[in-house]
Amino acid sequence: MQAVATERPWIERLIASPRVRATYASTVAHVFVLLVLGLLVIPLDVERPPTVITLSLKEPVVTATDERGLELGGGAEATGGPPTAEPVTPDAYVADAATRPDPATIAVEPAPPPIDLVGEPPAFPAPPRPSPQPEPAAATSATRSLPGPGDAFAGRRAAGRGAGVAGRGGSAASEAGVGRGLEWLARHQAADGSWRFDLSGCRCDGACRPLGSATSTTAATGIALLPFLGAGQTHEEGVHRETVTRGLYYLMSRMRATPRGGDLSEGTMYGHGVATLALAEALGMTGDRMLVPYVRDAVRFIETAQDLHGGGWRYLPGQPGDTTVTAWQLAALKSAALAGVAVPSPTLDGVCRFLDRVQVRDGAGYGYLAPQDRPCTSAIGLLCRVYTRWDREATLDSGLARLAKPGPDREAVYQNFYLSQALLLRNHPAWPRWNRRHRDQLVARQADVGHEAGSWSFADPDTAPGGRLGHTALAILSLEVYYRLLPIYTADAAQHGW
Ligand SMILES: [Zn+2]
Repeated sequence: MQAVATERPWIERLIASPRVRATYASTVAHVFVLLVLGLLVIPLDVERPPTVITLSLKEPVVTATDERGLELGGGAEATGGPPTAEPVTPDAYVADAATRPDPATIAVEPAPPPIDLVGEPPAFPAPPRPSPQPEPAAATSATRSLPGPGDAFAGRRAAGRGAGVAGRGGSAASEAGVGRGLEWLARHQAADGSWRFDLSGCRCDGACRPLGSATSTTAATGIALLPFLGAGQTHEEGVHRETVTRGLYYLMSRMRATPRGGDLSEGTMYGHGVATLALAEALGMTGDRMLVPYVRDAVRFIETAQDLHGGGWRYLPGQPGDTTVTAWQLAALKSAALAGVAVPSPTLDGVCRFLDRVQVRDGAGYGYLAPQDRPCTSAIGLLCRVYTRWDREATLDSGLARLAKPGPDREAVYQNFYLSQALLLRNHPAWPRWNRRHRDQLVARQADVGHEAGSWSFADPDTAPGGRLGHTALAILSLEVYYRLLPIYTADAAQHGW
């Protein structure tokens, strides 16, 4: 073993010095204190950007043999890449930017007069067509478009709304429920104008349950805006116009310009369809030209995302369709057309092809991905048939009668939402009885205490990922059915092939 050095190296002598040791200990202690203080001021509640879209109403992976098969949106396989972490501002949305006014300059007007609960309802719904008619020659052209906005949505304005309530089975209690529901929605809008299914970003602080698990902010914002629009509340009119303004602005800020059109999907076409529907309704109700390029580009994205073979839509562009996502695209196309935005004929023809493919009982029942006989998808499919003005009316009405016979299921908010629209649009004989039960069930079910006051929640696994926000929106929309629905059977609509 080698002998050690007789004199210690200078570094060891330095460390051994009492003064150096004291300085060393002091430095360690101060660094530790600084680290602790630094942790205390780091914001831990950084708002989570929208990430993966999973608004599945059942298990994430859906197959043709699933028992329920109903969804509001995409499951795990629906993730089309992470959405942008930061919202895209309208200024960054380059397509037609020069023609797009600044949404911040949206004008506001005084609130409308009180609703008149007397008087005759407007001429909606007109009696169904007496017999099938071939498409007019104009309908075979490249696109269909309907004349200027306004008339199709007139029933939502104060006078038409009161008449619709009085003439089609609403009540003062149902209207009061709508008002309380809209107040709850307004209280749960996030600071950035969006709504979130997990109720984050607002001042609820977990007071309202259950929270939804779906993460699409465009879907949540779209579904929350629809009840306002359904009650005549726009960014130009109504006591909630500020809320609606911020929500519409948020949706526009989320649109991504793509070669295939304006993408509002955040990974699932469910979100795109709902958001497009909200923008189209706002355009149809106000005629605000600011919205035109957004609706037009969103319609273009629906067109290019369609499964050209099967004719439907699912989570990602081009996927074989499912009944739920297809229904939201169809509703968006319908409202866009009534707002004056051209909708391609082949796109609409594809919807009919999809419905043919999933129908059973000659079209009285509908499946989710394949021909199957399920109540909820049948209600959705039958409403789609009404929208597309299917000429087999006896089959359509018999399918509706079969679904309505047991009365409204107390928990099936999604199925009831579709069935009520189809029954009323058809002037179906089952409507009065079915509506009374459905209406009164909803009114009695509305929460009336605490922060949840004005909202709804149901034990409906099909819509569980939407949580209380989704359920409240669907319940309000159901109570607005008396004036919210669009005129499917009017002469103008028929003239344009709808
Ligand atoms: Zn709350």
